[in-house]
Amino acid sequence: MRRSSWKIRIFIGLAIVAFAFIQKCSNTEENPYTGRSQHINMSADQEIAIGLQSAPEMAQQHGGLYPDERLQAFVDAVGNKLVQNSIARETPYQYDFHLLADDQTINAFALPGGQCFITYALFSQLTEAQLAGVMGHEIGHVVGRHSAERIADSNFWKTATMGATVGAGDMGGLVGGIGQNTLLTNGRGDELESDDLGVLFMIQAGYDPYEMIEVMKILKAAAGPNRVPEFQSTHPDPENRIEKIRESIQKYSNQ
Ligand SMILES: [Zn+2]
Repeated sequence: MRRSSWKIRIFIGLAIVAFAFIQKCSNTEENPYTGRSQHINMSADQEIAIGLQSAPEMAQQHGGLYPDERLQAFVDAVGNKLVQNSIARETPYQYDFHLLADDQTINAFALPGGQCFITYALFSQLTEAQLAGVMGHEIGHVVGRHSAERIADSNFWKTATMGATVGAGDMGGLVGGIGQNTLLTNGRGDELESDDLGVLFMIQAGYDPYEMIEVMKILKAAAGPNRVPEFQSTHPDPENRIEKIRESIQKYSNQ
């Protein structure tokens, strides 16, 4: 490669990285429901569409929906009670609460735009108030727009990586589309924000927020010495979260 050629490559590479960075900064907006500044490059309608599109596949991976209509209606009722009594009601999202047939995997998750799920394995260990804790946490992911934020992050890194690979003289290896990991992997900050919102939603809907701490204990016991990998990737250590949950209960109980 001639000397002038690699100089141009590095210049173009740096320009792409700079473009990615400027785009990221220009996509900063304040979440009206949490007050937190976020880098997001999609509308609420797009979030809803992504969630609705991914929901059947996610359900299928956990054995589809649990066949008992009564239990489905119960999960829906608890979820809707949380929505109707909180700021979630004022968001544009379409909340739906699904009980999954999977009786082996302890898990719960939310897709962007309002689709929330809990496996029967977890559901069967919970009281109503504890179910409200889990669903409040999942609604927190939706209101906090955590998936949209992860998607914007991954786009940033894709563009930045493209800049780096152009600079290095190799355009191959770029991946497109939104992977499941992007949708479901929440950072530690996301989990803590969802716990905090979950506590608030529980209090507003008339549930005992201390039951959120019981949820953490159940999760910890369920994980056991051999932690369930899915759970580990989406929900970090329950032990560390309990302290923060106590702080949230203090904060919101005094309001
Ligand atoms: Zn979570």
